[in-house]
Amino acid sequence: MRAESNGKHISGAERLVPIDQLEVVAAEMVQRALRHSRGRAEQINISVEEIAPAALQFGCLLDLHNNQVQSWQQGRELAKEMLVNCTVNRKVAELAIKLLADGAAPNGQSMRGAMLIDADSGQRLEADLTRGVRASRMDLSADALLQLRSLLAVHGLDNAHVIEALTLATKVVHAPTVVAEFCWSDDPDYLAGYVASVKTGYQRISWLKPMGEERGGRVFFVRSSKERLGYLVAWLERQPYLINRVGQINPPRFWEEI
Ligand code: AMP
Repeated sequence: MRAESNGKHISGAERLVPIDQLEVVAAEMVQRALRHSRGRAEQINISVEEIAPAALQFGCLLDLHNNQVQSWQQGRELAKEMLVNCTVNRKVAELAIKLLADGAAPNGQSMRGAMLIDADSGQRLEADLTRGVRASRMDLSADALLQLRSLLAVHGLDNAHVIEALTLATKVVHAPTVVAEFCWSDDPDYLAGYVASVKTGYQRISWLKPMGEERGGRVFFVRSSKERLGYLVAWLERQPYLINRVGQINPPRFWEEI
């Protein structure tokens, strides 16, 4: 589902569901578009596509670690160190933070998808600097979603932002040649974000931008030959990926302890 108002993006979401749930899920999507914090959608597009069960790849959700910082500046500092720990070059990590802060699209606003950045050189590799690369066709199975929601509720994290970001990050970091992912939201009132990798799991960071800031985005850090990039982008955008196992949800760690 994609929803807009006055040509401006309001909300987007997607699901991988059995066909008998289609009508209920489509109705949920419409509700979501109409009740978004960015305003009510004037135009809602829903597209539906059949996927052969044999095409599905299955995965296990990343473990979640919840890092509580006291300012967005601390959050960005922590994100940088985490990216370096994931083998991203320090200068490249700094560049990525600056690009997200300044608005990574050529017009200085948020991109629709993610930047693809070479983890060693910092070179931007996405073909379209406004659209970027859109991770797509991933979801949690119904059982995994139920289990995850009860685990998140214990930590006060049972919300759509966390669930959808964990799902997306799990697919992205399992893509061939992806080293790590970094994200903060473009929702003006959602200030958290994360660094994720197979090695470190999903490291939620509680505060990464000032309140009211609409610029946000995602970076997929890669170590890939030019020849394999096409395959990577096709996998991220088109490979159906269903998460049917849930990892650990860990208690919060505070800035002083990190
Ligand atoms: P959100 O977490 O929905 O607030 O999105 C934050 C930013 O991540 C957006 O501004 C986009 O730049 C990027 N983004 C959103 N959805 C995707 C996606 N499916 N794949 C890649 N990047 C995305």
